[in-house]
Amino acid sequence: MAELSTDVRMIRGIGEQRAKALGKLGILTLRDLISWFPRKYEDRTQTRRIADLVPGESACVAAMIASPPTVSHIRKGMDLVKVRAVDESGVLDVTFFNQTWLKNQLCQGETYYFYGKAEGNLLRRTMASPVVEAEGRREVTGRIVPIYPLTAGVSQLVLSRSIRQGLDACADILPDALPDEVRREHHLCRIGYAYENIHFPESAEALDLARRRLAFEELFLFTIGLKRLRRRREMVQVAPCRAVDMDAFYNALPFTLTDAQRRCVEEALADMERGVPMNRLCQGDVGCGKTMVAAACVYFMVKNGRQAALMAPTEILAQQHYGGLAPLLESLGIRCALLTGSAPAREKRDIATRLAVGETDFVIGTHALLSGGVDFRDLGLVVTDEQHRFGVGQRAALAAKGSHPHTLVMSATPIPRTLALILYGDLDVSVIDQLPPGRRPIETYAVPGSYHPRVYQFIRKLAAEGRQAYIVCPMVEENDELPDERKAVTAYTKTLQTEVFPDLRVSFVHGKMKPREKDAVMTAFAAGEADILVSTTVIEVGVDVPNAAVMVIENAERFGLSQLHQLRGRVGRGAHQSYCILISDNQNDETRQRLRVMTKTTDGFKIAEEDLRLRGPGDFFGQRQHGLPGLRVADIGCDTRLLQEAQAAAEALLARDGELVSCPATAARVAELFTQNADALN
Ligand code: ADP
Ligand code: MG
Repeated sequence: MAELSTDVRMIRGIGEQRAKALGKLGILTLRDLISWFPRKYEDRTQTRRIADLVPGESACVAAMIASPPTVSHIRKGMDLVKVRAVDESGVLDVTFFNQTWLKNQLCQGETYYFYGKAEGNLLRRTMASPVVEAEGRREVTGRIVPIYPLTAGVSQLVLSRSIRQGLDACADILPDALPDEVRREHHLCRIGYAYENIHFPESAEALDLARRRLAFEELFLFTIGLKRLRRRREMVQVAPCRAVDMDAFYNALPFTLTDAQRRCVEEALADMERGVPMNRLCQGDVGCGKTMVAAACVYFMVKNGRQAALMAPTEILAQQHYGGLAPLLESLGIRCALLTGSAPAREKRDIATRLAVGETDFVIGTHALLSGGVDFRDLGLVVTDEQHRFGVGQRAALAAKGSHPHTLVMSATPIPRTLALILYGDLDVSVIDQLPPGRRPIETYAVPGSYHPRVYQFIRKLAAEGRQAYIVCPMVEENDELPDERKAVTAYTKTLQTEVFPDLRVSFVHGKMKPREKDAVMTAFAAGEADILVSTTVIEVGVDVPNAAVMVIENAERFGLSQLHQLRGRVGRGAHQSYCILISDNQNDETRQRLRVMTKTTDGFKIAEEDLRLRGPGDFFGQRQHGLPGLRVADIGCDTRLLQEAQAAAEALLARDGELVSCPATAARVAELFTQNADALN
């Protein structure tokens, strides 16, 4: 067997049928197969005496079959095999469902290993459907057993046998992507040992060694890949921007920028004066004033004689940016335009023409900016707001309308340091870690559902003072999973309007509405035409309604911390004291801990760190696949030390051998990982 790219069908012992099953898991090649790492392990190394079995606990027993198995037919389609097993300490009654073939396999007088959950009492111990193996041939008892992520039609046993075959097929040819000296310096085991023991650990220590080695390798290769991506980007030459006197811009602002905003602007301007395309992320908590940083960059670019574009994820956000920025920038001689999908075709054409000939300097828009008819005379700067709402492709499509324009990405999702190191290895990051002066911290409370009457009372009181309220529910329509109407926006709105607040104006918005309907509702709410807005998380993204002073979140346990923080950021944007009320009847420890974090701090970075600690990195990206190439073993929430070690090793290697000539296996693996996934990284 020669290549890791070999089709699994070519592996001895894997036939058409099994290959098909593996294909369902996306396992096509030998590499896929051996890289299908266990989700967890079960320690079945310890055998217990029958008398020592603890009801409710899983354990392994070696016992002799005392009498021939019996089969009974209990009801349609359900057969039961019963067998009695004994050891010197007691008797174990074992039952199997629908496994009648076992009747002929379990022989009286022979000893077998059973692994399963013990039940029963002191007098009579039982196990239902345990794993059973004869003494000489033990695969799944008496050892640490891998538990793989599965899909319908593929069993643990099929998977672990296939992987066994796979490992046997490539034991001698596994290329080691870690250079020898790196491996030795960091006390890491060899590749073959690592793969063998991540799948079939000899012992807990061996598993630790394997895991550490594979996690290190991933982080090491990842770092090298990112550094090389960055280097490639830095090879692109663009004409450096001229320095611009920014005083006119600063003087036109109704306020003084915070030090953090100033620093961020200076970092971005310095990038653009460098002759290499800027690729900067401006990250800052909701309300920290990222928009003005973008505006400063736009001013700078236009004064350099080139054009700028700002892309927002929703129409209402685009409108809001336009409403805030156009008067300011127009007063400084910058010609602005707003381009969204809902504009009449004629208007869109006009805007496009003006952009193409250079009569418009700065355009704000939605993804409508990406459409084919929109071209620029000389696009020098692309700003995207709330970047996580855009696909990589969309950002790239906008950038492609210029010739290597500078890019600035603004994000309100605070990324913990450990994660930022990885995620933004190819971006320069500016952090705005300061709020404009005079903001009053939002007061946050976590209360049980029995507080509803008081919460309504409170909303009523604030409404009487002229304030507005958000009430967020986790889902759109009632379903079986959550029959309580409170969780359903539409039904809840109706109840609130008719029974609780007949004298107030209650409106609602949810993700299943058409974008235009959504925008209309939001715009009306922003204009003060409703007192209460019931919604799903669609309001999570940056809409600014300074008059909204209370955010009520129903079933708060259903949201991640970072999401709760984003939602809370919708209030406290004006001069009024604002409140966030988290309602949950959930008594689960983790939930309560999470809600407590919310009541204790309003610092988005702290919250993000906690979130990462409590729920792992998946939450930041939604899914198991967080889009980071090849990070399967490494846990970026926990392996911080290892990450630093791997990064240092990668940097040292690149410093002495930038082209990786001394380690072709490393170079090859990096290339493989990054050609498949480069998109996820920009
Ligand atoms: P975000 O970072 O969430 O996008 P915005 O840019 O929308 O924040 O700013 C939030 C609010 O703070 C806006 O109303 C903006 O005008 C105001 N703001 C921004 N910078 C300052 C500042 N330096 N001083 C006072 N208010 C500011
Ligand atoms: Mg914003």
